[in-house]
Amino acid sequence: MATSSSTSAEQQFDVILIGGGIMSTTLGTILKELEPNWSIALYETLDQAGQESSDPWNNAGTGHAALCELNYTPRGTDGAISTAKAQGINEQFQVSRQLWSHWVENGTLGSPRTFINALPHVSFVWGEENARYLKDRYEALKPLPLFRDIEHTEDLDEISTWAPLLTEGRDPQQRVAASKIDSGTDVDFGSLSRQLANHLTGSDVDLRYGHEVTAVSRGADGRWQLKVHNKAAGQKFTASARFVFVGAGGGALSLLQSSGIPEIKGFGGFPVSGKFLRSTDSSVAERHHAKVYGLASVGAPPMSVPHLDTRFVEGRRTLMFGPYAGFSTSFLKHGSITDLPFSVRPHNLLPMMQVGASNTDLVTYLMKEVTTSQKRKIEALRHFYPQADDEAWELITAGQRVQVMKKDAKGKGVLQFGTELVAGADGTIAGLLGASPGASTAPSIMFRLLERCFPAQLETWRPRLQEMIPSYGHQLNEDPRLLAEISAATSTSLQLDA
Ligand SMILES: Cc1cc2nc3c(=O)[nH]c(=O)nc-3n(C[C@H](O)[C@H](O)[C@H](O)COP(=O)(O)OP(=O)(O)OC[C@H]3O[C@@H](n4cnc5c(N)ncnc54)[C@H](O)[C@@H]3O)c2cc1C
Repeated sequence: MATSSSTSAEQQFDVILIGGGIMSTTLGTILKELEPNWSIALYETLDQAGQESSDPWNNAGTGHAALCELNYTPRGTDGAISTAKAQGINEQFQVSRQLWSHWVENGTLGSPRTFINALPHVSFVWGEENARYLKDRYEALKPLPLFRDIEHTEDLDEISTWAPLLTEGRDPQQRVAASKIDSGTDVDFGSLSRQLANHLTGSDVDLRYGHEVTAVSRGADGRWQLKVHNKAAGQKFTASARFVFVGAGGGALSLLQSSGIPEIKGFGGFPVSGKFLRSTDSSVAERHHAKVYGLASVGAPPMSVPHLDTRFVEGRRTLMFGPYAGFSTSFLKHGSITDLPFSVRPHNLLPMMQVGASNTDLVTYLMKEVTTSQKRKIEALRHFYPQADDEAWELITAGQRVQVMKKDAKGKGVLQFGTELVAGADGTIAGLLGASPGASTAPSIMFRLLERCFPAQLETWRPRLQEMIPSYGHQLNEDPRLLAEISAATSTSLQLDA
C-alpha cells in the first residue's frame, strides 16, 4: 500500500478528503479503521473542523430519526399515511447510534454528553384537520417496531406535562394534538466533527486547516490532482490521490464541476439560508425539555417546518425556535455572493430555470420570509409558546443549505430536498450535494459511499463493518429482537438512559 510522500512539486496520498465537516470526518475515521495503512489527507479552508453547516448553531441539532418530523409521514392521495420515508430515516439513525457507540467504546469519541443528549421528540398541531392527521399518523406508526414507544394525546393537561410552554396561555377551546417518543436526541454535530478531526490528527492523517482546495482535475496517470491554497502562508501546491471525497458542503458543487465528471452534469444548487430565534432567558430553557415539531406552512419547503427545541451546546441548555428562511446567493456561510452565478453552466441552466418556473410557491414563501419583521417572527413563535416574551429572544443566522436541482428521468429540472451522493463512474471520486436529513445520517451515507466506490474491498471489510455496526445489512424494523438489543446497548453506551 502506498504511503504519503512529500515533494515540493506534489504531495501524494491514497485518499484526500475535502472539508472538515461531519461528512469528511466521519468518512476519514471509518477509512482509518478499515485501512490503517492508507495515507489520508484532509484539507479544510477554515481554522477548525465543523464550523460551517455542522456547527451546532448553524443547524438545529435534531438527531433525525423521523420520530417527530411530520414531513416524513405524508398523507397519500388515497388518504393513507405513508410511513416508508420515516422507516428509512429511522433505520439510518440506528446506524448512526451504533457507529457513535462503537467510537465511544473504543475511545475515538469522548464522553457522549459532549455530543449527544436524550430529549423527547414531540409533534404538535392545532386545528381539526391537523389533529385528525396526527391521530392517523400515530395509528400508522404505532404497530412498527421502530416507533413502538409513540404516545398520543389531545388532552391539554397531558400535553402540559410533556411541554408546559406549549399550553400555558393557550385557548382551552382550541383543538390541539400531540404525539411523543421519549427516545429522541439532540446532537452537537460540531463537537462530533471536531472530536473526529482530533482523532484523525492523532491517527497519522495529514489534516490541514486554512487550506482551500481550488480545483480538482484528472492527471495523465489517472490520479486526481488537487490545487491547494495554504492561505496563512500564501502558498499554493498540488496534492494527488487515487480517491477523493468532496465533503465541502456548499462548496461541493463547484469542485465536482471542476473535476469534469459527466455525473455532475445537469446538477445545480439553490441556496436557502436559515435563521433561528434563541432564548436569552435561561429560566425559560429550564422549563422546556423536548424538540417540538409542527407542520410547515403552505408552499414552505420541508426543511422550514417550525420547531421549538431544547439545545445542549458546550454544556449549556438553551431554547431555540425556527427556522426562518432567508436568501443569499452564497453557498457557504463563509462563502461568496458569486457562488450561485458562478455555478451556472450550459448543462444546468435549463433545469435551473425550469425549477424556478415550477416552484412559484417556494419563491413566494421565500420572498415572504425574507421580508418578515421580528414582530411577525415572534408571532410565529407564539403559535407554539403563547406566552413568549419578545424581549427574551435574539435572532441568529444559521448555516446555508444548498438544495439540489437536477434533471428528472424525463430531463426536466426538479428541486430535491434530500442528500445526493454523486460519484464518478469508476468510483475514484465522490461528493455530497444537498442537506436533509443530513448530519444525522452521515454514517449511513458514508457506508453507501463505500459500497459504491470500494466494491472490491467490501468483502474483506465486512467483519470490521459488522463490529462497527452490529446490524450491518439488516433492517431493524424486520427484527424486533435485534432492535431491542441494539437500542438497549446504544442507549447505555451513549448514556441516553439517564
Ligand atoms: C439551518 C440548518 C438546519 C439543519 N438542521 C439539521 C438537523 O437538525 N439535523 C441534521 O441532521 N442536519 C441538519 N442540517 C444539515 C446538516 O447541518 C448538514 O447536512 C451537515 O452539517 C453537512 O455536513 P458536511 O460535512 O457535508 O458540510 P459542512 O459541515 O458544511 O462542512 C463542509 C466543510 O468543507 C469546508 N470547505 C468548503 N469548501 C472547501 C474547499 N474548497 N476547500 C477546503 N474546505 C472547504 C467548509 O469550510 C466546511 O468546514 C441542517 C442544516 C442547516 C443549514
